[in-house]
Amino acid sequence: MQELLFLLLPVAMAYGWFMGRNSIKQNDQTAKQDLSIKYSTGLNYLLSNQQDKAIDYLLDALKVEDDTVEAHFAMANLFRRRGELDRALKVHEHLVRQGHLPSKDKQQAIFELGKDFLSAGLYDRAEKMFTKLLKSKSYGLKSINNLLKIYQSTKDWQLGIDLKKAVIKAKDTKSMHTLANFYCELATVALEKDEFIEVIELLEQALELDPNSCRANWLMAKIYENHQQFEQACQCYQSIYQQDKEFFPDVIENMHHCYLQLDASDEFFTFIRKVYEETGSTTALLKYLEQVENKHGINKAMEFILSALKRRPTIKGFKHFVKMQMAESAKESNGESLDAIKELITAYLNMKPRYSCRTCGFNSSTHYWSCPSCHDWEQLKPFRGLEGE
Ligand SMILES: [Zn+2]
Repeated sequence: MQELLFLLLPVAMAYGWFMGRNSIKQNDQTAKQDLSIKYSTGLNYLLSNQQDKAIDYLLDALKVEDDTVEAHFAMANLFRRRGELDRALKVHEHLVRQGHLPSKDKQQAIFELGKDFLSAGLYDRAEKMFTKLLKSKSYGLKSINNLLKIYQSTKDWQLGIDLKKAVIKAKDTKSMHTLANFYCELATVALEKDEFIEVIELLEQALELDPNSCRANWLMAKIYENHQQFEQACQCYQSIYQQDKEFFPDVIENMHHCYLQLDASDEFFTFIRKVYEETGSTTALLKYLEQVENKHGINKAMEFILSALKRRPTIKGFKHFVKMQMAESAKESNGESLDAIKELITAYLNMKPRYSCRTCGFNSSTHYWSCPSCHDWEQLKPFRGLEGE
């Protein structure tokens, strides 16, 4: 079907051109004959599978008029879908060179050319095309998004941030979220150098663009923690819980550390119990269990986890239960069989990835802020269910 469409496109283009020409200059016989020769030569090349020669001939023969411009775009898009980027490029470049095209078509040609360059990995040329369209009503936002894609690939975070004004003007939440992550990338570098003020300033900019960026709060908590400002760090961790309950289990351990420094362990466990009751997270359950054991002893803790696992079983929770059983049996006899079960569960859990991308479903044992598969930001979160949280 595609092949047929491909063959019909030049015919449609020629027809459009023919009709256009005929209505204006009825007796331009020479031009008609000239076209007829070029057209049939082009078609011959096409039929004998010499597509590059065919394109040269057809582009030369078929001038871009108002009624053939759509056919040119359709032909180029068809080439691109077939993976024939060089041919798509040729047609789009031909369109861009046409001085007389209406501004709307000219902008479309520049945008499509940018997309060709982007697909071919020619980032500098793609960047030039998209930059030309920043003020365009129809292609401004699309161009910004493609420029951000380029800067994400080349890790040119600052170049992305230079587009901030245009991004804010476009009021597009997705590109604001992307840009917030560009600030977080710069903040991560500054954090490694322990540049306190720089990190805070960068993260404030990130949160201004995306108040829901839990990554910005996570970095903010880290720098406060490094500088012994534990109260502020705790506030950041609480904000993360408000922003993203699914990501929260990964910060519980650090949050506990900060509360301990403030000598506010009870306050922490009250909060964690609330987290467990609201989300059912196994990490929160195991953390809360520490307090149950400390205050009421191992038997109460075992009762607590058993009833929790009956309500909502997870392998991670079961592993902890076996560990507690082992500690108990070790007092009476040796707990070899339980040890074997624990080893087995540990090996099983190690095989399982901990994170999944909420956008594309990519699984990973390591956490990434930008998904290695779909490149979306802040979408890798701990698994839920039996084998997860
Ligand atoms: Zn993804």
